[in-house]
Amino acid sequence: MASVQQRAQYSGDIASALLAYYGRNARDLPWRSPPGTPPPDPYQVWLSEVMLQQTTVAAVIGYFENFTRRWPDFASLAAAEDADVMAAWAGLGYYSRVRNLLKCARAVVSDHGGALPRTAAGLAKLPGIGPYTAAAIAAIAFNERAAVVDANVERVVARLFAIETPLPAAKVEIRAATDAITPARRPGDFAQAMMDLGASLCSVRNPQCLICPLQADCAAQKAGMAETLPRKAAKKAKPDRAGTAWWIERDDHVWLVRRPDRGMLGGMRGLPDDRWNARADGDSQPPFAADWKAVAGEVVHVFTHFRLTLRLAATAAPIDENSLPPGEWWPLKSLDSAGLPTLFSKAAKLAVRASRKV
Ligand code: SF4
Repeated sequence: MASVQQRAQYSGDIASALLAYYGRNARDLPWRSPPGTPPPDPYQVWLSEVMLQQTTVAAVIGYFENFTRRWPDFASLAAAEDADVMAAWAGLGYYSRVRNLLKCARAVVSDHGGALPRTAAGLAKLPGIGPYTAAAIAAIAFNERAAVVDANVERVVARLFAIETPLPAAKVEIRAATDAITPARRPGDFAQAMMDLGASLCSVRNPQCLICPLQADCAAQKAGMAETLPRKAAKKAKPDRAGTAWWIERDDHVWLVRRPDRGMLGGMRGLPDDRWNARADGDSQPPFAADWKAVAGEVVHVFTHFRLTLRLAATAAPIDENSLPPGEWWPLKSLDSAGLPTLFSKAAKLAVRASRKV
């Protein structure tokens, strides 16, 4: 691995080579401004960075465009109905993000006069903004020299400095090395250039070292070990959980509930279920006694910490409304507008398909 002195010596070379490459190859994304131009709207930088947490660029673009069309600034988002924003987020996953998004927009309006704090330290005090997101917003929107380390940058830096310590232990070392090569000039462009390099030439399995602008400064490339880095500690297997969702149908409507604010898929609409969670299977107890029929098939959904196999049981028997869990009848023909998260959207499709076959 290169010493700190060596890093400092060629950090300027890395930044200038990378910024020149970025000038020719920057990805054209709706939340970015072109290389070398004034920073983009901080609201859009914040929104995109929250959406991009653990989510791909391709998945985010449509959501970003819809959000900025409906809520173009902090004031409009802060004033929006929670249910509308949650429904617009449906399918993007990691739903605590959207609850924090609303909290953050409201805090910006009520406590900061409608504008984001301009430093990473100030940003990190807001809901839903961790150290990475704070650094990214500060660098990209406000040109603060902050070390921005996402998974792509982690890979590029581990290779540039041939850091062989396995992740996650290597994170501190990688962050220090990123800090050492981040320039005072155009730190936002530098951060985005690093992200782009990791998303393109410096890919996980097949790094394109021969055409990489950092080839001359890359220790892993010189040592012939690029594709072996970063090393990763063995992952624990995800536990399997099982649960049941209840499909209650009447007159071309299905009964939907709103999930408790805390917990998995908190605050989102969903089918009633048997209280499965990350630590335990569901209890298989339906919400009321009825002629429940198992629906053929199952939905397998992978969450961050576990894998859920969700089965469905359905009833269309006459229902005593008083026995239903709190919720609402939703027309089957407009289920797409219910804002169901992916798990329940897949389950609903299974139930609708099964009922058509009957
Ligand atoms: Fe990645 Fe290869 Fe470029 Fe090094 S030379 S940064 S390993 S693509």
